[in-house]
Amino acid sequence: MSRLGVLGWPVAHSRSPAIQNAALAAAGLHDWRYQLLPVPPELFDEAVPALPGAGFAGANVTIPHKEAALALAGEASPRARAIGAANTLTFGPGGQIAAHNTDAPALIAALPFSISGRTAMVLGAGGSARAAVWALRDAGAAEVRLWNRTAPRARTLAAELGAIPVDRPTGADLLVNCTAVGLDGSDPFDRLPLAPSDLTAYACVADLVYTVHGTVLVDLARAQGVAAVDGLELLIGQGALSFEIFTGVPASLEAMRTAAAPEATV
Ligand code: NAP
Repeated sequence: MSRLGVLGWPVAHSRSPAIQNAALAAAGLHDWRYQLLPVPPELFDEAVPALPGAGFAGANVTIPHKEAALALAGEASPRARAIGAANTLTFGPGGQIAAHNTDAPALIAALPFSISGRTAMVLGAGGSARAAVWALRDAGAAEVRLWNRTAPRARTLAAELGAIPVDRPTGADLLVNCTAVGLDGSDPFDRLPLAPSDLTAYACVADLVYTVHGTVLVDLARAQGVAAVDGLELLIGQGALSFEIFTGVPASLEAMRTAAAPEATV
């Protein structure tokens, strides 16, 4: 049996086991299993090196371990290194740990247009904002602006990755929400310096936050005729790329989408 999982804390809400197990079944990989791996930060460095010996071929990594995952790995892809965070770990036969980042290419692939030469407004300055800013710059965005509740974090990240820190979000081709706002299904406009009508200042709104029932940000963008990319689709995109790294075969996006749907119980 080959084992896979998602390392996080907390991680109980993750849809990754549902979508990854559906893709494993669709690919005929019946002796593979994907599970939750709830690991608190203080045990991360101790727990991860034990995984290969317990039959794990790899793991996804989510909040709050993405930076620690990169630091722990003996080798890393140039992309994971440039971003400074890893969402995918693979384990070699001798227990060697390699780090990868599939969040960045998944965002670019999910956009309804090429961001090359266009402008983007990113909200947030945590791990996923790092990946988004790097991805947008790498894909040729003409300008990436960055807003964060804690402004010094935005200034530091912007200086490091070539974005422009701003006091308030301003209209652009793309708005990307990389804050945790909206995760609990609450109204994001209470906590972000945006009004619902401001969404029309963007050609597309991408929300990294996902809930099985969607988010208010995505619903309100679509209701006003603005293209939107929801966090579940981004989860599936990064998960499909990780799946291929783990197994060497492509993932069925259809199987993953079906498993991620609200009515799915797996
Ligand atoms: P993180 O490193 O913990 O960063 C959290 C960010 O959210 C920070 O910028 C923080 O601002 C901001 N924030 C938190 N509470 C806020 C509030 N009440 N008002 C305004 N800003 C607030 O987290 P992350 O890894 O970047 O993840 C962010 C979100 O993206 C999470 O919901 C995560 O689940 C989601 N995500 C989804 C995918 C996907 O595949 N769909 C992939 C990665 C992440 P401060 O700096 O001011 O604290």
